[in-house]
Amino acid sequence: MPDVAVHIQSSVKRTGKEYREVHEWIDNPATKYERHDFSKVLENAGMFTEKYGAEAAQEYVLHLVEDMHCRFNKVLKEHQNLTADCLKYFGA
Ligand SMILES: [Zn+2]
Repeated sequence: MPDVAVHIQSSVKRTGKEYREVHEWIDNPATKYERHDFSKVLENAGMFTEKYGAEAAQEYVLHLVEDMHCRFNKVLKEHQNLTADCLKYFGA
């Protein structure tokens, strides 16, 4: 998924602020799976709203969206490569 630095650049572009603490919290290596859990989005967004304000909560959600795009694009590319290889293999 995008590096924390890429998420920070996106936040700066959108808001003029880094929201480094938000991105580092989400991508903490020890807890990154539970912190990217979409079923906890309301709970975590609430925590960020309380701690840093509504814009920070929005940046948390957009971090998840950026990661989702990255992951799905990777899966799609792998699928396209496998399909192309399969068609070539069978001469189709
Ligand atoms: Zn992430």
